Amino acid sequence: MNHEFPFNNIKKIDIRGKKLLIPTMHPFGSHLLAACCRGFGIDAYPLPTYIDLNLGKQYTSGKECFPCQVTISDILYFLKKEEQKFKDNFNANNYVYLLPEADGPCRFGMYNKFQRIILNTFDNFKDVQISYFTTEDSYSTKGILPEDKASDFKKIGFLLMVVSDIFDRIQWRVRPYEKIQGSTDELIKNMLNEIIKVLEKKAEKLPFDEIYEILELTTIKAKNLINTKISRKPRIGIVGEIYLRTHQPSNQYIIKKIEQYGGEVVNASLCEWINFVTYENIRKTKLFLRVLVKENLYKYVFATMKKLMSLKIEQEYQRFIMKKAYSKVLKHLDIQPDHDVEELEKHLENNHIYSYEVGTEACLSIAGALCYMKEGFNGVVNVYPFSCMPSTITSAILRPIFKKFHFPYLDAPFDGTIQPNREIAIKTFMFQASQHKKLLKN
Ligand code: SF4
Repeated sequence: MNHEFPFNNIKKIDIRGKKLLIPTMHPFGSHLLAACCRGFGIDAYPLPTYIDLNLGKQYTSGKECFPCQVTISDILYFLKKEEQKFKDNFNANNYVYLLPEADGPCRFGMYNKFQRIILNTFDNFKDVQISYFTTEDSYSTKGILPEDKASDFKKIGFLLMVVSDIFDRIQWRVRPYEKIQGSTDELIKNMLNEIIKVLEKKAEKLPFDEIYEILELTTIKAKNLINTKISRKPRIGIVGEIYLRTHQPSNQYIIKKIEQYGGEVVNASLCEWINFVTYENIRKTKLFLRVLVKENLYKYVFATMKKLMSLKIEQEYQRFIMKKAYSKVLKHLDIQPDHDVEELEKHLENNHIYSYEVGTEACLSIAGALCYMKEGFNGVVNVYPFSCMPSTITSAILRPIFKKFHFPYLDAPFDGTIQPNREIAIKTFMFQASQHKKLLKN
């Protein structure tokens, strides 16, 4: 993509020697990614998040998606603090703000351009550069990291996303049944720090085995925290927009709320999206190849086939890493395995409900929610930013289906305000979910 003026300060730039600022979306993922960057010699930091939401509100009109407001608040908060700290020595040129983007019909592709315009309104922040990963090239780090390091970084980066998902799943499986309140969160925090130490020391050497060992040790320790006398609780699946369902302050800690009212939660994973991006790129490349052959444009066929091959290798790599990491955990603890994006598509097609052709996260959310029902869950919550397009489509499609099957379903839109009836809605939903569990038993 060619970013023309005023977006000439958004590009894939070599980040060596700069302070890399990473938005905090996932409670572990951003920290692991930053530690990995440090292990590759890049001075990287996850941004403190959700500290002054008013900053984002001040520079937006209210029409933007909520994650855009949150991320603009976070970058402005951090830069203003740095400005106060370094006073006259503050140099905007030292910072690179990493803000990924997606193609397709969503506004996410516009966040970094919009935030560029906002940063340009500050004399002191104009020179802060914005760099990005994009779905267009399956989040390639080429152009950001030197050619010889980009591929290794991507390999270990994917493992870290899997680790983040698995830590989540261990936490959700154990926390509702823990003998000592708070022990699961404490364990995960400590084990996360163990991985961070390994990454800072030797990420460049790709310490996969050490990371797998920590993952297995975490599982064994976590299993011991469970009070086996507590019977299994209603299981709730979460789908929705990736930022909102993952960023806990934005969703007002909805997972803990559901647990408080007697549920056990499984949220859609980070890897589901990454797998989907690769899967989509394969699908689009195959289509393009067919067009080339049909139009006799053979001179482009070889390059396209090469691209297809490399995407297929990437897909196999992702499957291999996920299988290996999950197997380390599943032999000790029955966490929920991740959904396979190919299976999700088949599920949609077999039921003629929706199509991957339409794109966006709606296809994953709709298929994921229907799979939860099939897998014996007792309810589904759709978590999303107020007015989010794909999540509104998801809601419109899921509601009548779940109504037909008397399956508990809750829409949970968020925009940063406190909804007085949210608590009661979750409580009522959880009552329905526990009734559903009793019915399934009988
Ligand atoms: S998925 Fe929703 S919140 Fe995200 S950019 Fe699209 S419309 Fe906005």
